[in-house]
Amino acid sequence: MENTVVGAFGHPSLVARRASLRRNKKSSRLPAGAAASYRLNSPSRRIKAVDTNSQDLNVHLEARAESAADTINPALKGSVWPSPSDETPFWKKEFPTWDVSVEVPADVEKDSDLMHIIHVTAEMAPIAKVGGLGDVVTGLARACLSRGHTVDVVLPFYECIEKRQITDLTLITTYNSFHDGDWIPTNAYRGEVSGIPVIFVEPSNQFFKGKYVYGGSYNELEAYIFFSRACLEWMQVTGVQPDIIHVHEWQTSALPLLYWDMYHQLSLKRPRITLTIHNMEHYGECRQEQLSKCGLDGAIYATTDRAVDDRTIGHNPERLSLLKGGIVYDNARSTVSPTYLKETLCSGWLSSTLIRNRDKYFGILNGIDTAIWNPATDIYLPVKFNAQKLEGKKFCKNYVQKGLGLPVESAGIVEGKDVVNGTQRKVPLVVCITRLVAQKGLHLITHAIKNVEELGGQMVVLGKAPDDRVEREFKDLADLYNEGPAIRILLMYSEELSHMLYAAADMVLVPSLYEPCGLAQMIGMRYGAVPTVRRTGGLADTVFDIDDHSNSHMANGFVFDGIDEGSLNGALDRAFSLYKNKPDEWTGLVRKAMERDNSWNNTAGNYIEVYNSVRVR
Ligand code: ADP
Repeated sequence: MENTVVGAFGHPSLVARRASLRRNKKSSRLPAGAAASYRLNSPSRRIKAVDTNSQDLNVHLEARAESAADTINPALKGSVWPSPSDETPFWKKEFPTWDVSVEVPADVEKDSDLMHIIHVTAEMAPIAKVGGLGDVVTGLARACLSRGHTVDVVLPFYECIEKRQITDLTLITTYNSFHDGDWIPTNAYRGEVSGIPVIFVEPSNQFFKGKYVYGGSYNELEAYIFFSRACLEWMQVTGVQPDIIHVHEWQTSALPLLYWDMYHQLSLKRPRITLTIHNMEHYGECRQEQLSKCGLDGAIYATTDRAVDDRTIGHNPERLSLLKGGIVYDNARSTVSPTYLKETLCSGWLSSTLIRNRDKYFGILNGIDTAIWNPATDIYLPVKFNAQKLEGKKFCKNYVQKGLGLPVESAGIVEGKDVVNGTQRKVPLVVCITRLVAQKGLHLITHAIKNVEELGGQMVVLGKAPDDRVEREFKDLADLYNEGPAIRILLMYSEELSHMLYAAADMVLVPSLYEPCGLAQMIGMRYGAVPTVRRTGGLADTVFDIDDHSNSHMANGFVFDGIDEGSLNGALDRAFSLYKNKPDEWTGLVRKAMERDNSWNNTAGNYIEVYNSVRVR
């Protein structure tokens, strides 16, 4: 699979293009502070790209900024337009800190039957986020807090966490937790992140040290098993007994085993455990002796009805799956969309375990955290906007185009003439913001890059590849395309830039091979970027094709089915055609997408129902 995908980069047309671009290549330079692979056009090319009628254009852009001046970001007032040659890239400027406490919606109804929920998780946005898991924990926690419940998040105190993003950080407990025959001195801190109470667990060994959330030079599996026990140990030491312990993914799936087979036998009686599966592909493969390091006897879980990885039965040695153990030992489990629930029951080696435990398995659609993802208040945007006042969105597009050295439009028309028709061109900006892994449809992303350029659009890919091979392939593409006037491939993680790109984009592309829920399409909609997606998992539950007349009241984007390039082309063609030829319809679609409620207010209630179905009164 991986080979097929990577092989797609060697497509003959790309090879030809590579050769032609090499011939034309001019010297390029890296903007200060940007990733090595982030190459933009040389200054001379850049000036050429935007210089046509530059005086008029600048006057137009300044006027546009002024017309949106009431919402202009104070951090940017009086500053000039960004440029790729800026010493500090525009997404690395100093931004004000979030004050989300004011964002808690006053109109949310409080629940009458309140409870205490503790999320135990490997990620939390924005301080320890790699993908959607971090967003979901923060958004769901905030939604339950605003319904009146008591909510805490427990997170490893990763060395890479920026402490300035934590309010009132205080050491609250020093205790010992068990690992591999030793009791490890461990600190628990309390603080607040984006309005949400968080307990940070900091062991005194090497666990969770390093520059990133994942991939430190310690044994990750053992670190998360340790963390799972350390959370329960902290509850036991402090006497905290929530109604619900909500664990997420394989990283914290050892907790249900530890709870029922150890801590419930000790002093923790009240909590019940729910597990959310965000992505079935990651199942926490584990050797018996690794699990034994937390003090459980790994051997007793090596049975089909407990945690043995069914695919390894008869192998020497057989393996365990922490995720399977979690599914067997939790009180209820959920996954992140109704369609993904069906998909996981029908395929994959864990389906038989899920079917056996079907009665308490729920498909609950993720929401987005509308306090953080709100174009009307977003601290990272140069100008804010909303569905009624879209002027600011156009400004954001121009801002990003200028900052990345892409030709800038004036009043929706890019400077320059269409070479074929002699008319002025309208240039849609497509963004794809994603982890660069096979699941995300890498061959479709690379194909879209080519296709968008051919269709006369612009495209920005913001992505990070955990796999070196994929990173190299995309770096080659970046070298090839970032010199040109249409495509920017930025191989890095940047929360700030992601906000600006969603705001700038006309379209957001999510061509995943499978997608448990997907947040990019929902965030895109909230920021007025019309989604083009493959019909799978949560994408099928949130994006409805505008040409599907059986469902026209829901229509909000472009959907394709196949995993071939032709299917993607069809959807992009339709999107480009509407954008270019029917601007009023397009604006209507943008407004409709923005007005769709993808917030947690819609779905957090389903989680509360699940919690209520298992809690002890
Ligand atoms: P997954 O959880 O599989 O990564 P989702 O669509 O559920 O996919 O969530 C992805 C989240 O991570 C979104 O908030 C998206 O904006 C963000 N994201 C992904 N890649 C990057 C990146 N390179 N820089 C900034 N944000 C990113």
